[in-house]
Amino acid sequence: MKSMQEIEPFAKARKRMVESQIKARDVHDPRVLKVMERVPRHLFVSEEMRPDAYEDHPLPIGFGQTISQPYIVALMTSLLDLKGSEKILEIGTGCGYQAAILANLAAEVHTIERIKNLADSAGINLASLALTNIHIHVGDGSLGWPEAAPYDGILVTAASPAVPANLIEQLKTGGKLVIPVGERWRQILELWTKTSQGIEKKEILPVVFVPLRGKQGWQDAN
Ligand code: SAH
Repeated sequence: MKSMQEIEPFAKARKRMVESQIKARDVHDPRVLKVMERVPRHLFVSEEMRPDAYEDHPLPIGFGQTISQPYIVALMTSLLDLKGSEKILEIGTGCGYQAAILANLAAEVHTIERIKNLADSAGINLASLALTNIHIHVGDGSLGWPEAAPYDGILVTAASPAVPANLIEQLKTGGKLVIPVGERWRQILELWTKTSQGIEKKEILPVVFVPLRGKQGWQDAN
């Protein structure tokens, strides 16, 4: 019989990641912690990157894009305060790791990626985990995804110069939007809540994300 270590060589690293990088900071939602400990992040990166998959920093995923540091994935997820019944929109599928975390905590996840090659490989990564409640779309996510709106939560994993109006529109009343907003190399992670009185903004912490390119994102360099 194979030992656990042989079956899942990264299980220990993942446990250590949750203890030292996530719990030790300010993420305490037990559902988020459990999922971060379970989802095999190393399967979402290239073989050369695997030894680094559980380290406290972002990793390249090809096409000049990056997968966020584990703590940032956990923090952004916890800001949505998911209970299990929600419909979520993610903008910037990348390798599909954040979508996998969301799909374990919500009922349905729509995720949009503008680079078709990344969307395709995310599809393969997610299929290997048998996650069936994720819908991957290729397109300009700065416009949201009106076809499946309204959403209980929208999570943007690329930096925007301002909050795209479409995203606020596509939120339910009571819904939350998590988005890095600011300059090209420095943003603030913001949490927006749509209420019956209007929208409320809370600033969370300074971050650096790759740019959201598109009609309501950065329109320059491609
Ligand atoms: N959440 C991802 C990381 C995303 S990196 C993960 O877990 O791996 C940001 C991603 O946003 C990149 O893949 C980039 O191509 C994508 N992106 C940038 N602008 C976009 C847009 N307008 N619509 C959809 N995706 C976009």
